[in-house]
Amino acid sequence: MNQPTSFTAPQQIPSFINGMSTPLRAGGFDIPVIDPASEEVVSHLREADAGEVDLAVTAARKAFDEGLWPRMDIKDRKDILYAISETLLSNAEELSALEVIHTGLPISAVRHQVKRAAENFEMFAEVASNVSGQTYTQTKNYLTYVTREPKGVGALIAPWNAPLALASMRVATCIAFGNTCVLKPSEYTPLSMLRMVELFHEAGLPNGVVNLVNGRGHVTGVSLVGHQGIDMVGFTGGSPTGRSIMAAAGHNLKPCILELGGKSANIVFDSADFEQALDGALLGIYANNGQMCLAGSRILLQRGIADRFIEQFVARAKTIRVGHPMSESTEMGPVAYKKHMEHVLSYVDIAVQEGATLLTGGRRADGFDKGYYIEPTAVLAPNNKTRVCQEEMFGPFASFVIFDTLEDAIRIANESPFGLVSYVWSQNLTETMRCSRDIRAGVIWVNTPLMRELRAPFGGYKESGIGRDGATTSAEFFTEYKTTTIPIDPVKMARLGTSA
Ligand code: NAD
Repeated sequence: MNQPTSFTAPQQIPSFINGMSTPLRAGGFDIPVIDPASEEVVSHLREADAGEVDLAVTAARKAFDEGLWPRMDIKDRKDILYAISETLLSNAEELSALEVIHTGLPISAVRHQVKRAAENFEMFAEVASNVSGQTYTQTKNYLTYVTREPKGVGALIAPWNAPLALASMRVATCIAFGNTCVLKPSEYTPLSMLRMVELFHEAGLPNGVVNLVNGRGHVTGVSLVGHQGIDMVGFTGGSPTGRSIMAAAGHNLKPCILELGGKSANIVFDSADFEQALDGALLGIYANNGQMCLAGSRILLQRGIADRFIEQFVARAKTIRVGHPMSESTEMGPVAYKKHMEHVLSYVDIAVQEGATLLTGGRRADGFDKGYYIEPTAVLAPNNKTRVCQEEMFGPFASFVIFDTLEDAIRIANESPFGLVSYVWSQNLTETMRCSRDIRAGVIWVNTPLMRELRAPFGGYKESGIGRDGATTSAEFFTEYKTTTIPIDPVKMARLGTSA
C-alpha cells in the first residue's frame, strides 16, 4: 500500500568494498530481508564471511596507510563531506522509501532522519576543520608541540532502529578526521545502508574510505571486531552486545566507543506544565515505533497529578494512528521483526505476574492481515524493581511508577542498570536543578523530549555506554595525540663513551 514503485528494494545486497559492489560468491550465505509491514521477503543480503571482511579491512587499511584521504587538505575533505550531505538530501525520497521498507518506521519520521544523516556530515566537517593542537614553551630552550592525527581504520557497527541516522553518525564521526572505516549495519536493515554508501561515492568520496559488509553479528560482526587490521571500534547497539564487543576489542587492545541501551526515567512533577509533559511523555515512548535507545520508557509520576495524567495518557495512546509506515498520516508503524514483536509482547504477562495493571494495549493491533503491528501499550507497575521497569523492551511499551517526593524521584530514576537520558517535567527550579545534578544519566532533558544537540556530548552512564559522541568528544576518540619536542639551540648532552 502506498509504496512508491520507483523505489523498490534491490533483489540482492552485496558488500561494497573499495568503491564497488562485490561480486556474489557461489555458495555464499543469503539472509532474507523482510518488510515488517507486509511480512514479505523483499530482498536478500549476502553475508560477508571472514574472508570478505578481510578484503574490506584491507581496502580501508590501504586507503588509510597510502591513500589521499588522511593526507588531504581539510578544505578538500570538507568539500567532499558537504557534497555527501547534499547528495543524501537530493536522494532523500529514495533513501526514505528504502528505510521504511526494512524498518517499518513512519515515513514522516524517516524524512527527519535523512536530514539528520546529512547534518551529521556537515557538522563533523566543521568539527574536523577546527581540530587544533597545543604548544608548550615553558621548558627553557625547548618547543614542544602537540598535533592531532587521524587514528586509523574504524570498525563501525550499527543497529536497526534508525539505520540512516545512526550509521551516518558513526561514519561521519570517524571519517571527518581523516580515518577510514568498515561499516557493518544490522542484518535486519541493509537496504538504505548500501544506497547510502553508494551515494557517498557518487558525491566524490575516494575508494576504500568507507567499506560496507553485511551479515549477522556472530559471523560478520565478530570477524570485523576481531580483525587485527582495525584501530578502533565504534558501536551503537544493545548492552549485551556491547559487552562482548568490548571484550573482543580489548583482547587486541583496540579502543571502543559504545552507545548502548537505556531504560530512561521520564519524571513528571506536580508542578509540571501538564499538557507539555503529556505530549512529551507520549512522544518519548511511542515515537519511532517505541524503538529508541533514548525512550522515556519509565514514566515516574508525582502522586498529585498521577491519576489525571494516566487517564489522559491512556486516552491519547488509544487514539494513536497505527498504520502502514508509508502512509503520511501514520504515527506508529509495525515493530521491526517478528521475534522482536514477540519479545515486546512477552512483557505483558511478565507485568501482570509481577502485579502490574495493564492500562492499555498489550496485543497485536487490530485491522491488519499482515505486519508486526502492536497496540501502544502502558502498564502501572507496583514498584520500580519490577522487570518492566528494569529491562529494556525497546518497543511501544510504557511503564508507570508513582512517587511522592523529589528524593524518591531521584532515587527511583537512579535505580537502574542504565543511565542514558532522563526527562524532567517541572516548573520548579529546585526540582529541575536537583534532577540535573543528581540523576546519573548522560543527558538530562528539562521540559523537552528528544532534543539531540549534536555538538554536545551524547552517551550513557553505567550500562548505557562508554564514551560520548559529540564535537569535542568524537574528536578526542577518533584522533591520536602526537607530541613533538625540538630544542631551539643545540642541546648539551652527556657524551657516553668519551672518558677513555
Ligand atoms: P544489537 O546489539 O543486537 O545489534 C547491534 C549491531 O551489532 C548489529 O549490527 C548486530 O549485527 C551487531 N552484532 C551483534 N552481535 C555482535 C558481535 N558479537 N560482534 C559484533 N557485532 C555484533 O542491537 P539491535 O537490536 O540492533 O539494536 C537495539 C539496541 O541498540 C537497543 O538496546 C538500543 O537501546 C541500542 N541503541 C543504542 C543507541 C545509543 O545511541 N545509545 C542508539 C540506538 C540503539
